[in-house]
Amino acid sequence: MAEPAATTLGGRVALVTGAGRGIGRACALALSAAGANVIVNYRGSEAEARTLVQDITENGGKAHALQADVSQASEVERLFNEAAAALGPVEILVNNAGITRDNLLLRMGEDDWDAVLTTNLKSAYLCTKAALRGMLKAKWGRIITVASVAGLNPNPGQANYAAAKAGIIAFTKSVAREIASRNITVNAVAPGFIETDMTAALPEDLKQKANQQIPIQRFGRPEEVAAAVAFLASPGASYITGQVLVVDGGLA
Ligand code: NAP
Repeated sequence: MAEPAATTLGGRVALVTGAGRGIGRACALALSAAGANVIVNYRGSEAEARTLVQDITENGGKAHALQADVSQASEVERLFNEAAAALGPVEILVNNAGITRDNLLLRMGEDDWDAVLTTNLKSAYLCTKAALRGMLKAKWGRIITVASVAGLNPNPGQANYAAAKAGIIAFTKSVAREIASRNITVNAVAPGFIETDMTAALPEDLKQKANQQIPIQRFGRPEEVAAAVAFLASPGASYITGQVLVVDGGLA
């Protein structure tokens, strides 16, 4: 398939996991603004996902909301089948869904370990594998996973989250090498502190301490992460693979 013009995603089909809120929502909007048709995956935020689809549609874009828990293999299989039926095979995958369950290791229950590893890391394995089949056939694809600076410079109290995000980075580099010759790129973005529900839950003193450590001296906005994701999806990023693009105001 020919590359679309350098500034646009020209009707490519993008799937963003966890797109009802936060960084995922911003990614869906940025990809739509660049011309992609977007599958808005959500787990529980149905109203938010439907509002997002409506916003995209009213702006002249194309989008479709699909519910699925991307940590479950059977749900991912259903999600990709429904996505293909709604908009066509997925050409751009953004593995964004993620959760935190912070605690010091000695107090970290097995449930919290498993939930964070399956939601953040196993979901990327399941969705990437599901998306790859169509991408290999089309001989074109973009896979972008939302990691975190926690996967590069981990903080205490996040052993589960840091392990999952470091795992995503290694996963990205390994898969990138496997399929580089097939015109499919695999990259990650590693955000620092971004203003979403995830960081809204942090104690005020911790937020202030974090601000002092960020050279740009503020938390990032979801759109600032989405811009990096949209760049990695764009034709301009066609020679970039296996990379981690850090979006953290200079923190790391
Ligand atoms: P958020 O506002 O808490 O949103 C999390 C999103 O993940 C929601 O849309 C949620 O969907 C979705 N999700 C969670 N579990 C899911 C599952 N099993 N299946 C499908 N979707 C699921 O968090 P955020 O800050 O936007 O985080 C997005 C990504 O960025 C995560 O991977 C996170 O680790 C990463 N990140 C965030 C920051 C930050 O400072 N905010 C920094 C570094 C990395 P529902 O609402 O529908 O359940």
